[in-house]
Amino acid sequence: SDIGSQKDRVVTEEEWRQKWEMGNTRFHKEQGHPLLLKYLDVLLTGRSGLRIFFPLCGKAVEMKWLADMGHSVVGAEVSEQALKEFFAEQNLPYCEEPVPEISGAKKLQSTSGNISLYCCSIYDLSSSIVGKFDGFWDRGALVAVNPRDRQRYASLMISLMEKNSSYLLVTVSYDPNKHKGPPFYVPESEIKSLFG
Ligand code: SAH
Repeated sequence: SDIGSQKDRVVTEEEWRQKWEMGNTRFHKEQGHPLLLKYLDVLLTGRSGLRIFFPLCGKAVEMKWLADMGHSVVGAEVSEQALKEFFAEQNLPYCEEPVPEISGAKKLQSTSGNISLYCCSIYDLSSSIVGKFDGFWDRGALVAVNPRDRQRYASLMISLMEKNSSYLLVTVSYDPNKHKGPPFYVPESEIKSLFG
């Protein structure tokens, strides 16, 4: 389970914003992810009114799904374009406000109040800013984090976990010497050491 040449690869936040500008976003799933539906019970465990976090959210349509089920959704994303496309494509009115704790960051919140998307780096967030969460949908997130930042990312996610939270993680399995990523290959053994 060697991640080979991927361990030193870095994709900058600016490069991610450029991908959005160029429309180079094939990771986006217009129909949403079937694995969220398949494991919805594991995420929710029969509970209602949960706080659900979407790290590196892009314009994931699953945010709308969960909000429509009565949960409160929070996301984080460096591309403001992605977040604006989300609200436009989902036909949701929203307001923007600065985030006092993070210079340059904005919060885009649906007028109904149940979807709050932070436009900033995930590493700028902490539980004192966004609170803790009952559920996490990590798809295109851990696998998009630069390999050298995985420990920091996982520690941050753990610090955002409420007691009895559930965390759905989607990874991809392939030979890391054949593609440079992202998505990066994250071996099962590394997931165990990151999250325990
Ligand atoms: N989870 C989404 C998007 C996956 S692509 C989905 O399932 O469709 C990864 C996303 O993370 C991109 O939209 C990119 O702009 C964003 N991103 C990359 N680095 C980030 C960082 N440090 N903080 C917040 N968002 C980041």
